[in-house]
Amino acid sequence: MKLTIVGTGYVGIVTGTGLANLGNDVICIDNDRKKIDMLSNGKLTLYEPGLEEIFTRNFRSGRLVFTADLKRGVRESEIIFICVGTPCNEADEADLTAVKVIAGEIGRYMNDYKVIVNKSTVPVGTAELVKKIVKENQQEKIPFDVVSNPEFLREGAGVKDFENPDRIIIGTDSKKAEGLMIALYRSVARTNRPIMVTDIKSAEIIKYAGNAMLATRISFMNQLSHLCEKTGADIRAVSRGLGLDGRIGSRFLHAGLGYGGSCLPKDVKALISTLKQHNCEADLFEAVDQINERQKSVVVEKLESVISVNESTIAVWGLSFKPKTDDIREAPAITIIEKLQQLGAKVHAFDPIATPNARQVLNDVTFFENPYEAIRDCDALVVVTEWDEFRNLDMQEVKLLLKQPIVVDGRNIYSPKEMEALGFTYLGIGR
Ligand code: NAD
Repeated sequence: MKLTIVGTGYVGIVTGTGLANLGNDVICIDNDRKKIDMLSNGKLTLYEPGLEEIFTRNFRSGRLVFTADLKRGVRESEIIFICVGTPCNEADEADLTAVKVIAGEIGRYMNDYKVIVNKSTVPVGTAELVKKIVKENQQEKIPFDVVSNPEFLREGAGVKDFENPDRIIIGTDSKKAEGLMIALYRSVARTNRPIMVTDIKSAEIIKYAGNAMLATRISFMNQLSHLCEKTGADIRAVSRGLGLDGRIGSRFLHAGLGYGGSCLPKDVKALISTLKQHNCEADLFEAVDQINERQKSVVVEKLESVISVNESTIAVWGLSFKPKTDDIREAPAITIIEKLQQLGAKVHAFDPIATPNARQVLNDVTFFENPYEAIRDCDALVVVTEWDEFRNLDMQEVKLLLKQPIVVDGRNIYSPKEMEALGFTYLGIGR
């Protein structure tokens, strides 16, 4: 099939590469010329495990091409995926500016029947809006369909999730579009992953429901972690005991520093706005959001309970919002570092992958290329992102390098007993 992907960020590049790898001809579009220049030279613009190999292979085969020319992308393909960003605007709604611009241009350049696929996360009703904008911009009446095909990939496991999705949701009111979308995804669904066809509005809500559920589970555990701390219980044991219940399941039940990233925070906020716009109550999701905001201060409060943060030097391990990605959007590390700096602390930081991105948003932080170097002569270490490489480092060495053996483990990756036996002042979350 001939496909166009508009927006070559985390979703666009993984989806485009994955679809090319299935044998389709894929044109990837972006209005960021620098990105397009790099990609056109066969260089990836972001880190995603396993992506480089299939990207390079499909790029070299000519199945994957990059251009800023949307007109070409619209004319040469039958299916056009909108994968542009939908960040939070000042009113905490999904900012649909880019989606609307693309819809207008697709309408303007349309030369033949097209399926326009909303893959960006957009509020219920956006497919209708896209349909309207396309129609208004058409030069002549050409039939087209708008499909909602929300994306569920996780950064850090994007390629794996593309190849083995739990499900593929196709929201459509057109048999023709349904047939084309099923033909496109058939080879992925071959691995017994269901394709679920539904109405457009339900598909749009499924995406927000998924992220709101994950966020709720995290805030749920974070709130319980405070009770564990007050009573001497261990949130990790509570999480395990809870997750063994087949009705509940074990995933997304970890207490920590709160969720971050480019999806959960903005999608919870956008869902709250959408509910309110439809005169529905949103108090459950408002609480989820508030608990998350508060949780980001927990590390700083813990540090303040054992040292005077003012004029201290604090080492931070992990800057990305989660392991295996270089994405620092809404990363708890950013909030924590800024809070520490406001209190007068100097910050030393290390991250295996995300340092170049973090440099662009953080001021006055000293970055290191090695976790041990980052902690030398620091008053405390804070573990913010649970990169695997932090799990088995030489803790004797860590103790020697730190000025004071204080570790705040924001992700509960170390054993309190072992850390205490080594002579650390160890502060985890909810234990
Ligand atoms: P991103 O910011 O990484 O990428 C968006 C890309 O769109 C950028 O390269 C940007 O330059 C481009 N763009 C913006 N306006 C454009 C325009 N007018 N014309 C052409 N290109 C334009 O975003 P992302 O993380 O890939 O997310 C994209 C969408 O997918 C969002 O709605 C997001 O909520 C959703 N989503 C993201 C993830 C994820 O893990 N990142 C997962 C599921 C869904």
